[in-house]
Amino acid sequence: MTQAGGTFGLVELPGGWTVGRFAALEAMPKVVHLVTTRRGLDVDQVRLHPDAATRQAGQAIGLAPTAWVHQVHGPTCLVARRDELAGREAFCLGQADAIVTDQPLLGVSCRSADCPLVLAAGSNPDGRTAVGVAHASWRGTVACIAEVMVREMVDRFGLAPAGIVAGICPSAGPCCYEVQDDVFQAARESLGPSAERLFPRRDGRMFMDLWRANREQLRACGLNDGNIHTAGLCTLCRNDLFPSHRKEAQQAGRFLAVIGIVP
Ligand SMILES: [Zn+2]
Repeated sequence: MTQAGGTFGLVELPGGWTVGRFAALEAMPKVVHLVTTRRGLDVDQVRLHPDAATRQAGQAIGLAPTAWVHQVHGPTCLVARRDELAGREAFCLGQADAIVTDQPLLGVSCRSADCPLVLAAGSNPDGRTAVGVAHASWRGTVACIAEVMVREMVDRFGLAPAGIVAGICPSAGPCCYEVQDDVFQAARESLGPSAERLFPRRDGRMFMDLWRANREQLRACGLNDGNIHTAGLCTLCRNDLFPSHRKEAQQAGRFLAVIGIVP
């Protein structure tokens, strides 16, 4: 077992997959999740056959079916419902970058090769639980997709933001995610002057801190700082564990994150 820090650890499943897990999500009753790595679910299969890969990943933690989306780097969050999935061969809900559900045994999932995936789960005192996942690419982050996901969990399922726990999965980190001025301008236009602090400069180059950007968004919708956990693993630095589009270009596979509720 490799530890990547206190909040996010790598564990080996009985089937031989090495997966990542957030301790804080694992500690939540009825919530199951995993983040795949290169060791286990084939990264090319995740890219080329997302339906089959997503189902396999969900089944590994007792979820079936598991929903996924055609990710388009936008601000749309869909709600997954078992009755809408029943009888379909494919469990793709459509074009979106986040999915939420409150239905047990129904997984929700997104895929990545550098973009942060944000997992969230929350419970009310009355026992109602809901989960969500968001694909927070730089465009998605600028479109506030993590915030859209949390607001959906709050408005639709009645969760209190203070009862929501979130995990920001491995992605291109502020150490490596160099961007050009167009990204900075887009962020400034959407997020205002506060975008400035999300773009550290080093040696005349500009980087984007996607982890901080998503943390700030989650905090802005009412999550407690102590309930927001960042894996802190960079997909470029740890290309041995995770596919990276920046490093491998079109050849890059994908890893995925799935979360759900068990009875
Ligand atoms: Zn890095």
